[in-house]
Amino acid sequence: MSGVRYEGIEKRFEAFTALHALNLDIPDRTFLALLGPSGCGKTTALRILAGLETPTAGKVIIGDRDVTRLQPRDRDVAMVFQSYALYPHMTIADNIGYPLRIRNVDAATRAKKIAEVAQALEIDPLLDRHPRQLSGGQRQRVALARAIVRDPAAFLMDEPLSNLDARLRLSMRGEIKRLCHRLGATTIYVTHDQAEALTMADLVAVMRQGELQQLAPPADVYERPANRFVALFVGNPPMNVLRAEVSEQGIHVAGATVPIDGARHQRCLASAITELGIRPEDIRLAAPGSPGALSGEVYVVEPMGNETLVDVRFGDERVTLRAAKGFTAAIGSTLGVAFDAADACFFDSSGSTKVH
Ligand code: ATP
Repeated sequence: MSGVRYEGIEKRFEAFTALHALNLDIPDRTFLALLGPSGCGKTTALRILAGLETPTAGKVIIGDRDVTRLQPRDRDVAMVFQSYALYPHMTIADNIGYPLRIRNVDAATRAKKIAEVAQALEIDPLLDRHPRQLSGGQRQRVALARAIVRDPAAFLMDEPLSNLDARLRLSMRGEIKRLCHRLGATTIYVTHDQAEALTMADLVAVMRQGELQQLAPPADVYERPANRFVALFVGNPPMNVLRAEVSEQGIHVAGATVPIDGARHQRCLASAITELGIRPEDIRLAAPGSPGALSGEVYVVEPMGNETLVDVRFGDERVTLRAAKGFTAAIGSTLGVAFDAADACFFDSSGSTKVH
């Protein structure tokens, strides 16, 4: 296995720039999630690594090899597609063994490797079937087996779970994470699902409109988002963003003044803060009118089974908070909420995070 590096990768499709000077350094044995909304350039970045797309500028390095000009088959990467891309006329065993066959691996070695990976992915009873005789989850396992059968330098996965139902997606998420961990594989995993990125990856690269917004471990992306875009894209329900002003008295937000500790206060005063972000789990219920409490109107209450989501309105602004299961409040009633400024992050008018 090897690390992977994008050096100043740019991709233009005629007048449209899909990737702007992308720099990414993915250490050996790292699981990287490329995360972002539809159209941000994730698939393009992956296809450039696979050699299925040629960059307009920049270099792709795998291990210590510059592979920018190499054909896909010479790059030593294995790709798992959303569509699985299995050959319908071949048996499962032949599908899995295909990458070995085109590399002229002899039949006995092939059979041994196929049996090994089929056992690892628990699809050994299916080897004589054809793809049409398999469920979506089983097909996904076959696609994974075909990718790992020849120990590539890196695995590239493009939304591999998006065709599965919600329950299966959850269980395959764990399976893929375990598998990559066991193989010690460098993996680049494209997803628009922030939960997949947070739960599976060692490193998350958040992209927007062809530009990298943040490259960090999942906990940092969640706790210390680089900007407002990342803050809102990662987390469900998303971070609450409220207009904020800072003065010598504290932070003024939704008609209340929230106290803040000295060092953070100074940093907020020194930056042109316009908004603050606070996660739903960092907001608590408080008596309306108590010091630092924001007084609002209940917009909706949503029992989730294990917890209750509560939307509270302050004029034209609104927050979601996580309350305990069993919490109830009438729509339209007055509710006080509070948070610690230490849990908030503060943005300037350009949306970049000034204080975490
Ligand atoms: P999704 O999650 O929807 O697959 P993505 O983040 O993977 O989105 P890409 O498929 O990489 O996005 O596309 C990035 C941008 O480049 C999009 O605006 C897309 O329309 C454009 N694009 C991709 N391929 C081509 C092409 N062959 N010709 C022109 N534009 C393209």
